Amino acid sequence: MPKSDIEIAREATLQPIAEIGAKLDIPQDAILQYGPYKGKVSFDFIKGLADRPNGKLVLVTAITPTPAGEGKTTTSVGLGDGLNRIGKRAAVCLREPSLGPCFGMKGGAAGGGYAQVVPMEDINLHFTGDFHAIGIAHNLLAALIDNHIYWGNELGFDSRRVSWRRVMDMNDRALRSIVTSLGGTPNGFPREDGFDIVVASEIMAIFCLATDLEDLTERLGKIVVGYTRDRKPILARDLKAPGSMAVLLKDAISPNLVQTLEGNPAFIHGGPFANIAHGCNSVIATQTALKLADYVVTEAGFGADLGAEKFFDIKCRKAGLKPNAAVVVATIRALKMHGGVAKEDLGKENVEAVKKGCSNLARHLRNVKSFGVPAVVAINRFITDTDAEMEVVRQVVKELGSEAVVCSHWAEGSKGTEELAQKVVALVESGTDQFAPLYDDDMPLWDKIETIATNLYGASEVQADKSVRNRIRELQETGYGHLPICMAKTQYSFSTDPNLKGAPAHHSLTVREVRLSAGAEFVVAICGDIMTMPGLPRVPAANSIHLDSEGRIEGLF
Ligand code: ADP
Ligand code: MG
Repeated sequence: MPKSDIEIAREATLQPIAEIGAKLDIPQDAILQYGPYKGKVSFDFIKGLADRPNGKLVLVTAITPTPAGEGKTTTSVGLGDGLNRIGKRAAVCLREPSLGPCFGMKGGAAGGGYAQVVPMEDINLHFTGDFHAIGIAHNLLAALIDNHIYWGNELGFDSRRVSWRRVMDMNDRALRSIVTSLGGTPNGFPREDGFDIVVASEIMAIFCLATDLEDLTERLGKIVVGYTRDRKPILARDLKAPGSMAVLLKDAISPNLVQTLEGNPAFIHGGPFANIAHGCNSVIATQTALKLADYVVTEAGFGADLGAEKFFDIKCRKAGLKPNAAVVVATIRALKMHGGVAKEDLGKENVEAVKKGCSNLARHLRNVKSFGVPAVVAINRFITDTDAEMEVVRQVVKELGSEAVVCSHWAEGSKGTEELAQKVVALVESGTDQFAPLYDDDMPLWDKIETIATNLYGASEVQADKSVRNRIRELQETGYGHLPICMAKTQYSFSTDPNLKGAPAHHSLTVREVRLSAGAEFVVAICGDIMTMPGLPRVPAANSIHLDSEGRIEGLF
């Protein structure tokens, strides 16, 4: 029986966070400590780094995953350790996990096996309180809206068209749709409302895209919170909200520094959804890491069709980042699934199915390279994978003009990613990167959606009802046409049907709804059912989580 993630994490001897900071020449007084192993890097120190050159930026993305996840976080951590092992000064940049899901399905989001970030219980639970700050800033704005309506509604809110909901960091389906202000005159005007999970908050997306406190405040002001009876948007700044919201976020905005199991630096900061938001850690953390390390490894959520595309077209475009290389993570089990194998049979050798399933990998690889970013494939090795199965992937990838490297970081730590690290360095040093986003800012919104769907997803057309098309036209005409698109669709297929595996072609993409995230500065195109407040399963992990006699957490992972 292999050790559980938490057992491995507990066996590690952690280094004081000041020593981790010292590896990046961060002075001790620039680390605001949260206990011995967690710290926030001070903003004053970060401001002083502006003139330094940037290190190299490496994106870790993946093929279309199985529901279990194919190991992007694990591989990001493993590659960071591998780069350090071969003598590079490397740091990883990851998202902060959401607390709610920990009590639903088992499994954390801090890597796995011998490629983890620690202290993992803290990282997965309250960490440094960033999600609390984001949730409270969000709910302050919600409170200000109802308070404004209560005291006379000078701005003329149509209470049926308040679009700003409330948030909480817990899976709780009972709060998806509620009625607020019940109980009579002193409690205001009853209206329909609802809760989303904190990671779905637009504040989370803004937090992760803001470049500094001024930019943060400016973006907070631009949030559209609702509409008047004649459909005029009302912004957060009309409620004079951004100042106090920024005050609540002022400490959270400093990036968190922790360490990998091998004692290498890891920045973990911000964690937006990868469907209605862009699914990457904060720009501030990535930029800080680039000033301090020679190599920065970062992860984007979901498969490359969503994660890498949004990383490139939203985060890199907005922040002026230039990724130098990408790693596309593939697993044999997911390739088999794309080759048509049923879930129960994924553990059995099936070279033909792996080969067939490589159609999925091939399209992701081609897509990533089409952004001008050179890429290598990492086969994240599971103990059930056979040599013949891995060999066929290597062959297919070679025919596509790239290389596939078998990685065993989950079982062996950095020893298992040495070769991957060498290949990544070689790719970066080849200087072949020529990053460019997929489309220009001034392309119309509808055409941007079509470009993504046809160039990356293999769709032959995009469809939408008249009301959706009208809304897109309205956004185009009211000054939002220059924004990038944030696609929200299933992560389980290139298409909008999660059952269409491999590399489906000639499918049709239907846009069901568009939402404006004016503060985050993107337009969300919703192509499917998107859940912004998850529920708990019949037997939630919470049922078996407890403290042991020594006060340690049991049952979490
Ligand atoms: P992603 O970031 O792509 O969602 P993760 O890195 O979080 O994926 O991995 C998903 C789960 O799979 C984690 O619980 C992790 O411990 C486990 N895992 C990852 N790689 C391996 C491997 N090679 N062998 C066994 N389990 C693995
Ligand atoms: Mg992950």
